[in-house]
Amino acid sequence: MSDVPPDSAEPIADPALFDKVVNLTKRRGFVFPSADIYGGFRSTYDYGPIGVLLLRNVKDAWWRSMVQLRHDVLGLDAAILSPPAVWEASGHLANFTDPLVDCKVCNERFRLDKLDDTEVCPNCGATHSFTEARQFNLMFKTHAGPVEGAGHDVYLRPETAQGMFTNFANVLQTSRKKPPFGIAQIGKSFRNEITPGNFVFRTREFEQMEMEFFVPPDDADEWYQYWRKERFQWYLDLGMPEHLLRLRDHDEDELSHYSSATADVEFLFPWGWDELEGIANRGTFDLTAHATASGEKLDYFDPATNTRYTPKVIEPAAGATRTMMAFLMAAYDEEEVRGETRVVLRLHPRLAPYKVAVLPLSKKPELTGPAEELLSTLQPHYMCDYDETQNIGKRYRRQDELGTPVCITYDFESVDDHAVTVRDRDTMGQERIPIDEVLAHLQAKFGF
Ligand code: ATP
Repeated sequence: MSDVPPDSAEPIADPALFDKVVNLTKRRGFVFPSADIYGGFRSTYDYGPIGVLLLRNVKDAWWRSMVQLRHDVLGLDAAILSPPAVWEASGHLANFTDPLVDCKVCNERFRLDKLDDTEVCPNCGATHSFTEARQFNLMFKTHAGPVEGAGHDVYLRPETAQGMFTNFANVLQTSRKKPPFGIAQIGKSFRNEITPGNFVFRTREFEQMEMEFFVPPDDADEWYQYWRKERFQWYLDLGMPEHLLRLRDHDEDELSHYSSATADVEFLFPWGWDELEGIANRGTFDLTAHATASGEKLDYFDPATNTRYTPKVIEPAAGATRTMMAFLMAAYDEEEVRGETRVVLRLHPRLAPYKVAVLPLSKKPELTGPAEELLSTLQPHYMCDYDETQNIGKRYRRQDELGTPVCITYDFESVDDHAVTVRDRDTMGQERIPIDEVLAHLQAKFGF
């Protein structure tokens, strides 16, 4: 975790944190390099048994807050493959580009707008060695069916948002909703990034959590302010320390041509502040573009005022994989315990891959039998781990590194007193709880 320096507004990024977290994720089965046995596939990752749980919990927490706990947002799961018409209308075919330069000395390629110094190659150090910048389109193109060529082109979506716009009329007609209402989606997106890197921060295949909120035009500013605050609060509610987060408003010259206001939620990564999510007022740009290109009506007739209007759109667009990485960075902690370093992930219980680990003190059947029984009473409620190997101290340390908030040890006394030792990840405090009160104890502790 980064420290807050006394009497200073700016917290300090901790460059050493990056390697520590990346090593932990590999060691404990969060994230593996993809195609590892073939030497890996550059900047592509697979989520292992623990990572898949953490990533799913991040997505579930988003869905819960954005869809489940509201009555004005509906879910969607649109196709990843899409025809050129969608991307023609959205402007992606023409404009979804980054400026690409090559170093003429070492042949490495870079994104011009991400270079610290546009005169010096960060790979080989050569000066004035870059080619003229050319615009490189980030969309992955493939073809549908056995025939290649014009008419068969399809694209892997570079964002999930367009699915919400192209389905606007479908959702409006089938849902009985009227503006203000939103459509939310979580799913994979693909961008042929020039310089992927920083672990899962920037990859070519990633997951997004996006919501398009359609509002009467006069209410757009108010809703923009609302979502700006709401989305920032989401990270805080999941235990992200406030000093590692900031909400940065875009300057006028940073705004996309269609956006009248955009703010980024930024996290203090080991290399400095960087984006987790953008909240944008996109106006009527998307619905108008698709209505014009498709010839379909993508507007709303308000029977109360007898008027027809194109809703404006407020979009909070977050990256699930990038956000998962930020939660890992924020949760990572080290402390001295009896002369040894204890590594602990202080993840919010909602995000923790396992909520509980059940640990019989020994492998003897009189302990493992009842421990498994206890496990099976908890599994319908929580994702649980079960571990009977190694000494108990090592098993606690392993669970600390997985971020498991509670360990439950079934020991020899448990056979007689029908109670277990419940250990808290953060304080390492232990208490004895009767077995038939364990579930209620956990529910009170987690609040769910
Ligand atoms: P960047 O400036 O970092 O390239 P962006 O502003 O183009 O990102 P958006 O199009 O606003 O990103 O996408 C919304 C969110 O999706 C981002 O805030 C980020 O969390 C996530 N995201 C975008 N590109 C990637 C990527 N290549 N890898 C992982 N996550 C990504």
